[in-house]
Amino acid sequence: MYKISRQIDFCYAHRLLGHQGKCRFLHGHHGRARITISAEKLNEMGMVMDFGDIRGTLEAWIDAELDHRTILCREDPLAAVLRERGEPVVIFEENPTAENLARFIYEKGREMGLPVTEVRVWETPKCSAIYGR
Ligand SMILES: [Zn+2]
Repeated sequence: MYKISRQIDFCYAHRLLGHQGKCRFLHGHHGRARITISAEKLNEMGMVMDFGDIRGTLEAWIDAELDHRTILCREDPLAAVLRERGEPVVIFEENPTAENLARFIYEKGREMGLPVTEVRVWETPKCSAIYGR
């Protein structure tokens, strides 16, 4: 099995409903997503995939849709307030944890037809969550 990965940095704000600690307050992260793509065989160029193909698809989407956005749970009353003010808000069905963010990016990559096998999201340099198969 061959694997390639590309790291994408992006900034976002979020808060976690029901959290007992500081994460219940709106705060921001300089996050990093690492997209891993796997293949049993290499293509005629000797590659799993051209790195540029990740940049042109999933990285472009993260840059346009997640970077400098506020990510909130659908039940968060703050979502309506921010939208009223013209702030771009991304809505998750569940709390916008690093775990759910990793799954969100993974599923978007799959939807785009990329053979994504793992997405790792760092909320901080020390803490990350992985979603994959
Ligand atoms: Zn956080």
